[in-house]
Amino acid sequence: MTPELFEWYTDLSKAFPIEGQTVRLVEIEGIDHCGESHFDNCTIYINKDMETHEKIETLCHEWAHLLDMYTNGYTEQAHRDSWGIMYAQVYRRVIDQ
Ligand SMILES: [Zn+2]
Repeated sequence: MTPELFEWYTDLSKAFPIEGQTVRLVEIEGIDHCGESHFDNCTIYINKDMETHEKIETLCHEWAHLLDMYTNGYTEQAHRDSWGIMYAQVYRRVIDQ
């Protein structure tokens, strides 16, 4: 795994834990988008074929999805307001450091 991505994964695990869950992070090849988060197994998949900064931004985006869905329940409206608030909090931590 990209070392810098792993460092941020470790940081977010401590800063924004999901109660009762351990977030899994997997870099995968062969997808045509940046990443995905799976609510059922609390796993984030990140496209391996991207620049490191894109992977880190994707990690923030997907982490916010898991936080939102575990906190507020599953929705088809993935980018609802509550997701946006969590994304802002996660993203701010990353850009401020
Ligand atoms: Zn999304």
